[in-house]
Amino acid sequence: MPELPEVETVRRGLEPHLEGRVIARAEARRPDLRWPLPPDLVQVLTGARVVALRRRSKYILAELEHRGSLLLHLGMSGRMLIEDESQGAFHRDPAILPRHDHVVFWTDRGTRITFNDARRFGMVDLVAPGATHPLLAHLGPEPLSDAFTPEALAAALAGRLDQRIVAGLGNIYVSEALYRAGIDPRRLAGTVSAPETAALVGHIRAVLEEAIAAGGSSLRDHRQATGELGYFQHSFRVYGREGAPCPAPGCAGVVQRIVQSGRSSFFCPLCQQ
Ligand code: ZN
Repeated sequence: MPELPEVETVRRGLEPHLEGRVIARAEARRPDLRWPLPPDLVQVLTGARVVALRRRSKYILAELEHRGSLLLHLGMSGRMLIEDESQGAFHRDPAILPRHDHVVFWTDRGTRITFNDARRFGMVDLVAPGATHPLLAHLGPEPLSDAFTPEALAAALAGRLDQRIVAGLGNIYVSEALYRAGIDPRRLAGTVSAPETAALVGHIRAVLEEAIAAGGSSLRDHRQATGELGYFQHSFRVYGREGAPCPAPGCAGVVQRIVQSGRSSFFCPLCQQ
């Protein structure tokens, strides 16, 4: 499932093709994805100017001039394809089937933008001008924003650290950040000290920024908007490495996996206390 770095990678790929552009034409090719598509989707998109492309947690928001926002979530297998039709044809990875092109629009520059989603757990919705979408109303602090301070993380740590507390931070990045911070994932959040919390903020930012720089982690169906694969999965120190030696120099620990709230956490029992 695409997590925050993958979604940010997709947003950055789309930005130069969408920001400032007018949507000349739009098509909704089925009535629903995970949820029904808005009945006025095509009407709202047609002729709309995209003034900004933002991300909140794992949602992409295309801000439309005077028309609210288009909200996208990639779900499990969603992709945003960018294809240039100005030459009359375009190359596409044959594994990406046109029958999964569910929402398609064309900009005034002739770029075709496609939401392709084989498993249809993704979401396309509209947000009215000035409104907040209900799915965005209760997210925790955005980990790459200035609002993500040690105080904000400490305040959010009322339970265990998981992605409900830190917006869009999946268990891959929680595992990697806790490993770097030397904090055992089994510890209740209330036992994490102020200096540890401050260090953890820095490790969370660093892990996410490294993953974004590497183009996201390509697990399962993730692709960058350009179709290239990301490489951060080669940098995992503990995630997915159950039974492997801890990569810390001189550590004799073996990476372990535990399941918390239905999600896997990976850690070194010697490095993480
Ligand atoms: Zn270790």
